[in-house]
Amino acid sequence: AETAYEQALELRALTRHFGPVRAVDGVSLTVGRGEVVGLVGESGSGKSTVGRIAVRLDEPTSGSVHIAGTDVTNLSRRRLRPLRRKFHLVFQDPSSSLDPRMTIGEIVAEPLRLHRIAKGEEARRRVEKLLQQVGLRPEHADRHPHQLSGGQRQRVSIARALSCEPDLVVADEPTSALDVSVQASVLNLMADLQRDRGFGCLFITHDLAAVEFLADRIAVMYLGQIVEEAPTAALFADPKHPYTQALLSAAPVPDPGAQRTRERIVLSGELPSPLDPPARRPTTTPAGRPSRGVFDSCRFHTRCPLAEDRCRTEVPALRTLPDGKRQAACHLVAEDGTAPDAAAANTH
Ligand code: SF4
Ligand code: MG
Repeated sequence: AETAYEQALELRALTRHFGPVRAVDGVSLTVGRGEVVGLVGESGSGKSTVGRIAVRLDEPTSGSVHIAGTDVTNLSRRRLRPLRRKFHLVFQDPSSSLDPRMTIGEIVAEPLRLHRIAKGEEARRRVEKLLQQVGLRPEHADRHPHQLSGGQRQRVSIARALSCEPDLVVADEPTSALDVSVQASVLNLMADLQRDRGFGCLFITHDLAAVEFLADRIAVMYLGQIVEEAPTAALFADPKHPYTQALLSAAPVPDPGAQRTRERIVLSGELPSPLDPPARRPTTTPAGRPSRGVFDSCRFHTRCPLAEDRCRTEVPALRTLPDGKRQAACHLVAEDGTAPDAAAANTH
């Protein structure tokens, strides 16, 4: 029976520490039923780790994961198994996620078999339909992954992901390993399938044009935290956080006739290592042992063109702005939601 749920995915206060590295540090994010949420940020921002935790390929250090209304955070493998049909991950590189010894038909049918949804002739029929829906032909079912192009292989992993009609698809850079010439067709395919089938989707990427095309809402990550979240059109029209402003200023404007023109904001320096984030002040535990330290400043202050004294002494909270739909973590975003202008302060 269908269960009623509101959120395809709900992440609450997730952290993930690898030794001293806080790869994810307090991320809360929801993907509504049938909603596409883009998660963007530079590599090293922690976005892939969030995606892996969302589909239980990685365990959070703390926090919780709810999929289609079920708390899956602490479920054993055995208890998780029947729920696995509800969610699926589409990887960046289809060549490494598809078993080279299996035929395409076996790869797409495997989840149907594992979840006892269909077997034999019925499974074969469903596989052919799925292949057709992702733009492949029935005879592709008898081939092996190496006999297909990169774009075709990614279509196979999409067909496999959708075989059990999931509530949630997490796609981590699904087109970035593909030739530029086929990226658009795979994105179009994902958009069409999402519209037809209405699964919730967490779309992880550094490709801003792709996320503008596909996502209803966008969350921007920097060094393990979400620094801004907004509906897609609002984010592109009026980015609030200086980091978002810098990211968008570096992105090509897809339509040359568009009103959007931006002065390029050049950030100083590279993304700091999560091993040694700039905002961390070493401390000791009550027992006198060294601890992971506390954050006492904005993590972006070493690169922010607008950084001022307060940014080095006070952590900016992720605040909900007056429209109720947007959030930003910056001291300089005004109470009424007015954004600071990083381009004006940009001296590079
Ligand atoms: Fe920049 Fe300060 Fe805002 Fe951080 S809090 S983004 S350093 S202006
Ligand atoms: Mg990644």
